[in-house]
Amino acid sequence: PREDGDILTAHDVHAGYGGFDILQGITLAVPRHQITCIVGPNGSGKSTAFKAIYGLIKIRLGTVDFEGQNITGQRPQDLLKLGIAMLPQLSTVFPGLTVEENLALGMYVVRDKRRIKARIDEIFDLFPRLRERRRQHASTLSGGERRALEIGRTLMLDPRLVLLDEPSVGLSPNLVSEVFAQLVELKEETGISVLMVEQNAKSALSISDLGYVIQRGRVSHTGSGAELLGDPEVRHSFLGG
Ligand code: ADP
Ligand code: MG
Repeated sequence: PREDGDILTAHDVHAGYGGFDILQGITLAVPRHQITCIVGPNGSGKSTAFKAIYGLIKIRLGTVDFEGQNITGQRPQDLLKLGIAMLPQLSTVFPGLTVEENLALGMYVVRDKRRIKARIDEIFDLFPRLRERRRQHASTLSGGERRALEIGRTLMLDPRLVLLDEPSVGLSPNLVSEVFAQLVELKEETGISVLMVEQNAKSALSISDLGYVIQRGRVSHTGSGAELLGDPEVRHSFLGG
């Protein structure tokens, strides 16, 4: 049986760099088993929000809860144990390692080789193109395959919530829709909860159950993906009319 409700909530989060708040009181909720998307102009604080939630920068004021437990300020390794994984905007693969070896790194805390192998196989079900290239060095992958590998590695520990900072960054338009289609499939097949940040706002909102617009460190609009896509103000300001 699936529970509804929010898997993660952030309340009035203030955080930034060098004593200066970029986030001016961000409040948002991430519903369980759904795709939630944050969009907004460059430099508005989207990645900063992820870094604050994921314990990579200090939260000066405000709280973050996961499954009803206060996780404010907890470090990434502890969050990973709780079931939250994050793909940074700028992620890398190890070019000299094979696709399989790169995926195994996402499970470096696990000793059991068979468990790792089984999980890699599940990731290949999700990204069949990676299976074909399992023994190739990551350096030989296309941009889309590389990002899929980075996403796959983020999913290795089977998180309940995944934060994806621009999963489609650097991809050609057809690959963008491919990655989004895979995210929908992932959600439907595993019931994972997804919180993502996206520059490709239109395509991202079209697959999102819930969306937030962040401007200058504040949430300016919220609604279902479809509602935000239909909002004249949002369309005009962020979606190119
Ligand atoms: P985006 O919405 O594009 O992801 P960011 O959250 O990365 O925006 O950045 C928000 C603001 O914080 C920007 O003005 C950016 O220059 C600033 N910023 C980002 N990272 C740092 C950093 N490490 N040190 C200082 N300022 C930063
Ligand atoms: Mg960013």
